[in-house]
Amino acid sequence: MKRILTTTVVGSHPRSPKVVEAEKRLKEGKIGEEEYDRVVKEATKICIDDQIRAGIDIIADGEQRREDMEVFFAQRLGGFKEGDWVRIWGNNYYRKPIVTGRVEFRGPMTLDDWRFASEYAGNRAEVKQMFTGPYTMADWAFYEAHEDRWDLTLDLAEALAKEAKALDKAGCPYIQIDEPALCTHPQKEEMELQAKALEIITKGLKAKTAMHVCYGDFSLLFPDALDFKIDLIDLEFANSDFRTLDILREYDFTKELGFGVVDVHKREVESVEEIKKNIRRALEFLSPEQVYPKPDCGLKLLPSEELAYRKLKAIGDAVKELREELS
Ligand SMILES: [Zn+2]
Repeated sequence: MKRILTTTVVGSHPRSPKVVEAEKRLKEGKIGEEEYDRVVKEATKICIDDQIRAGIDIIADGEQRREDMEVFFAQRLGGFKEGDWVRIWGNNYYRKPIVTGRVEFRGPMTLDDWRFASEYAGNRAEVKQMFTGPYTMADWAFYEAHEDRWDLTLDLAEALAKEAKALDKAGCPYIQIDEPALCTHPQKEEMELQAKALEIITKGLKAKTAMHVCYGDFSLLFPDALDFKIDLIDLEFANSDFRTLDILREYDFTKELGFGVVDVHKREVESVEEIKKNIRRALEFLSPEQVYPKPDCGLKLLPSEELAYRKLKAIGDAVKELREELS
């Protein structure tokens, strides 16, 4: 029997204060890479146990190692150099990287963490892996060596295709491409660019593939995204009071849907009843095999691991009840 209402996460967990501290000490030269790695792995185990206890079917490693979703990859790909501090979302700053040459894949960037998580989870849950997509990587960087943003995006797609291949070859069952920048440019041609980029990355993969998008105007995605070479489209819904459902309803939605049912910007925990009600709204026009309940976005935006757990548990409990009601 096919699993219905498969629960998942977007990927990140609040970073453990121990990891943040260890990272500081690593930068100051007070501890070595080995000690930092040990602290990251201990924190990863807690993320994994929390997700499983909450009733999540497809989990992630919690991205404890990623200080920033742009910088983490910029530091590991060839062609990038560190830039100046740029302000994003309120009072958050990151060093906007500069691409000074053709992008070069130097070796897997997320594979070891996936392997560790997958081995630790064992047969308790499936583990996916996510990486920042070429569209967002290009949009959030300065560039000097590329003709234009299109050229850079497709160059990045070629490099990231090798990351996807490495994960696929190792047996990673779900590969997710994170594209928070995708709906922030209103031009319709942006979707043509993304269609090309995704085709490059997902070509020949055995794994199921997903694209996560948050922020911006989701109506820009459709109908183009329905032809993207991916299996699942993962969106936020709770944060916009589920208005995105009205956009989806207009189309014959043939893909799977990552359905955000808890808001990661809100400290109150959504009730089980509320989550059930909102999942039922999606089930008015989608099958329960198609709908993947999950938080809107990465949980790292929440202030504590405890709150992240309670939000996940609400999803797990709601789905458990719905599965009984639907069977
Ligand atoms: Zn997101």
